[in-house]
Amino acid sequence: MAHIPRVYIPGHVGPGPLLLEGDQARRLTSVMRLREGERFLVFGGDGREWEATVAGSGRLGLHATVGAVLRQEPALPLAVEAWVSLVRPNRFDWAVEKCVEAGADVLRPLLTEHAVRGEGSSAGRQERWTRIAVEAAEQCGRLHLAVVEAPATFDDLLSRAHQALLIADRGGRPWPEAAPLLPPEGRLAMAVGPEGGFSEEELRRAKARGAIAVSLGPNILRTETAAVVALGLIRSLGR
Ligand code: SAH
Repeated sequence: MAHIPRVYIPGHVGPGPLLLEGDQARRLTSVMRLREGERFLVFGGDGREWEATVAGSGRLGLHATVGAVLRQEPALPLAVEAWVSLVRPNRFDWAVEKCVEAGADVLRPLLTEHAVRGEGSSAGRQERWTRIAVEAAEQCGRLHLAVVEAPATFDDLLSRAHQALLIADRGGRPWPEAAPLLPPEGRLAMAVGPEGGFSEEELRRAKARGAIAVSLGPNILRTETAAVVALGLIRSLGR
């Protein structure tokens, strides 16, 4: 069966007529070449996915009719926040896309002691990250959206309330030892350092707060690779 296009509609989605405007309408008609009578999928990020049919395209955009709910699932019991150190723009864009696919619920650009200067955020970057996150969610079949938050500091990471904090550190526990320490539900923060690594002080402070340091294997992974590997391992636990 051909790949069925899947689009995120912000706000409430329900049965009945639906008008898709702007870029979204253009993408469905010009890129995905959807024609009248053809089917696609819509989701509002609330755990439900609906089937929709193109009714026609007009001056205002693409008219469709939303039909039945095809899939419905609650959010996973463990919400995972990925605190990923800011790296060069193209690498961070990649991190956003892959972290959403791998199952992060929240992605927070992390500012640390050794983070490269001049790699900060801007309104433009934030918008771009949000767009990448939405497209990744559309592509990978997620029913719940992932959000990209504004950059936050290491102090923010330590002061937020999480059930557990997992720190990616080559000197940490091997995964089979770390996995049983993760909570079955609630909120887990997972943090990955910058190219220069976390400072000794940051690691010491995190461990003093009860963080679980986890090793992701013998090689030195890039920040964005470490984030995706860690998320894959966490989600492979099925929670
Ligand atoms: N210059 C640093 C490497 C930083 S790699 C050094 O020599 O240690 C960027 C980040 O990815 C690290 O801070 C860590 O959080 C994570 N990371 C990279 N490889 C890892 C591994 N094998 N295990 C766990 N975390 C790793």
